[in-house]
Amino acid sequence: MLHKKIAMVPDKKIALVAHDNKKRDLVEWAKYNRVLLAHHKIFATGTTGEILEQELGFKITKLQSGPLGGDQQIGARIADSEIDFLIFFWDPLEPAPHDSDVKALLRMAVVWNIPIACNRASADFMISSPLMDGEYDRLVPDYDDYRNRKIAGEERPRPGPIESAGEDDTLRRSR
Ligand code: PGA
Repeated sequence: MLHKKIAMVPDKKIALVAHDNKKRDLVEWAKYNRVLLAHHKIFATGTTGEILEQELGFKITKLQSGPLGGDQQIGARIADSEIDFLIFFWDPLEPAPHDSDVKALLRMAVVWNIPIACNRASADFMISSPLMDGEYDRLVPDYDDYRNRKIAGEERPRPGPIESAGEDDTLRRSR
């Protein structure tokens, strides 16, 4: 299968999100890992970001609150290669008004093959990975076939490939 590689540099762009019942968990985790997180660029949904900024004492790029569009803003940044890492402590026991946005965000993370952790144990394993502080070529499927797919009844010529920021050479991998 054809893949493209997107280079992840040692200083990563990490999004942190937690639902209300999970915010305490995320704050504890982030404080414990403060030194490891400090040299990365941190993004967060509004309320999560406010709390984390106070507790960690470093600058966080705060987006809208999740139910007001913050999850979708993070998803859009993932599609634009502006966020390359997601730690998302979502609450499995509470229905959320923005459930469809949560699902869409998790879907974007899978589409673009970014690392995601949805609970503390996964986040612990991820943050302590030797890959965390090195360069890493993230492979994403080459979506040009999808972009250029034939649409029944369509006359106009199909556009050429659209390069997403950070997309590099096409690689052939057999998986
Ligand atoms: P919040 O949003 O950080 O603004 O509370 C989190 C979410 O519900 O996605």
